[in-house]
Parts: sequence; C-alpha cells; structure tokens
Amino acid sequence: MTAESIAPVYERLFQIKLPLPIRPKGVQVYLFHNGDRSVLIDTGLSTEESLEVLHTSLREIGCSFADIAVTICTHYHPDHYGASRRIKQLSGCEVLLHKADSEYLFRTLLLNTNDYRKFLRSHGLPVNGTALMPPAIRVLRDYYLPVVPDKYIADGETLDFGDFSLQVIWTPGHTPGHVVLYWNETRIMIVGDHLLPDITPHVGIHTGLEGNPLDSYLDSLESLKGFEIAQVLPAHGPCFSDHQRRIKETFEHHEERQAAIVSRLDNSFATAYELALSLFDQSLPDLHKEVAAYEVLAHLELLKEKGKVQMHTRDGVNHFALQ
Ligand SMILES: [Zn+2]
Ligand SMILES: [Zn+2]
Repeated sequence: MTAESIAPVYERLFQIKLPLPIRPKGVQVYLFHNGDRSVLIDTGLSTEESLEVLHTSLREIGCSFADIAVTICTHYHPDHYGASRRIKQLSGCEVLLHKADSEYLFRTLLLNTNDYRKFLRSHGLPVNGTALMPPAIRVLRDYYLPVVPDKYIADGETLDFGDFSLQVIWTPGHTPGHVVLYWNETRIMIVGDHLLPDITPHVGIHTGLEGNPLDSYLDSLESLKGFEIAQVLPAHGPCFSDHQRRIKETFEHHEERQAAIVSRLDNSFATAYELALSLFDQSLPDLHKEVAAYEVLAHLELLKEKGKVQMHTRDGVNHFALQ
C-alpha cells in the first residue's frame, strides 16, 4: 500500500498520494525531505486512514512527523488543509497559508444559517434541511480540522529552506488565497488545484465571497504563462510538463461554457440554478447541482462586468438576461 502511495519526483522531493472518501479519489501532497527541517506541501483530510498513509509514507522515505518543520498549504480546502491541526500537533511544525484563504475560511465557518439560506434562495436554489453550510465544509466537516495559520504567505515572497527555496505565487480564483510554489533551480511548480491535467478546477461564487473569482482565476492562469516550467506537480491527476497547452485548454473550456450560457439566455431569462440545470447532467446529486450553480454564477458575474448580461431581482430572486 505504502510503496504505491509514494512517487519520487526529484532528488529529495516526493509525491505522496493520500486517500479521499469522495471524488476525486485522492489528493497528492509533496514532501521535501530535508532532515529535521523537512517541508510538507498540503495535508490531506483529517481521517485516520489518510494520516496512517502519511505516517507510513514518511517512514518509508526515512522521515517522521517530528521532522516536518514547515507545512505550506496551497489553499484552505479540506483535502489540502483539513489535517493541518493534527499534523501541527504531531510535528510541532509551522503552518503557512495565504491570508485571504485564512480570512475566508474563518468567515465561512462563522456564517449563520439564515444568510446562507437567503443566498441560496436568491439564486433559485432549492433550500432544504441539508443546506446549512457551504458544500465543502458540509460534506467534509468531520474530516476537517483546520488550524489558525502560524504565518501568512504572500505573493512574490521567497521561502528559504537553506538548501532550496520556493517562490510563492498568489493565484486567486479557485479560492481567494490559492498559491502555487515555484522551485526556481529545478523549474518545478507545485500548483495545488490551480491547473489540473484531467479536470478544470472549480471556480464559483459562494456566499460570503465578494468579487469576481472567474476574472481573478483567468488572470492568475495568464500569469503562469510567463514561467518556464519543467514539471507541473498538481494535487489531483498525473504530473505534466506542457503547462502552456493545459492553460490554453482551460481557457477554451471557460470560453465554451460562457458561450453556452449566453446562448441559453438568448430571448429568455433564468436564474443561476435554472442555467446550471440546463447545462449540466440533471441526474447529478443535489450537491453537484448546487456547485454547478456556483460555477454558472461566476460566469454570470464576469459577463455582467463585461456588460453582456444584466441581473433583475424579483421577489428576492435574481434573474439574468442578455444586456
Ligand atoms: Zn481545492
Ligand atoms: Zn483539491
């Protein structure tokens, strides 16, 4: 089991695959084996199974929890930050996260149910007994034990670990404080969920999240074009090298989605939820439909800002139409 979960990526850099109870099936975290100053990137979920795989993998690499001096998390999502409290307890490490994600995470946890229900209703989403919390937290709350970060990391900062250093690049979009890490000497980039080989990362508007996340996401994607990258190490799916091609494909995906939304609004108006139902497979579980509506909403916000779409509110429900 363990050998399968470890893949050496570069001298002293290892990929460790940790199990997830839902799709995607696993999350890949990365370990810079640097003696008792080892650095872990992302944590996996706070499940016994995941921590056990991490524990055995560390041992096989010749490392232990006590050797982890720093844990850097690419973003606050449960598969990346969920075990941060447990790992800190086990290792005494410093936990680093971008401030925007820390703020969003703790603000979301403090959201009251009424605000959340009001948000769902305003976009035409059905409100039922399970819709009490934002989806990521609702589904995974049992496995999510976040810690308050010891230190915030910021765009452009270089984290120096003696033998190697990592450049922090802020890539908001998938979450407000998502970061990727660039290892200059090797041109290896650890990208979290920002750029994935097989799927496109979720970019949505959620309650408590202001702004235009899709615009931020596309800007952050654009900013990676200027980097020379030998290998992209994602959190889900195989490692890859042609980042320019994948960036292009991801842009195309969003252009197609945008065109599909515009064509459905031709001569009609709809809520974000109605649009999501017409664009995605209707047999999807409720949670997926909800997440799809958040993605559609991110597109509508971008279209609104471009002056292509307008929003009307009737009886507290937002409807969108072409401008
Ligand atoms: Zn994520
Ligand atoms: Zn993820």
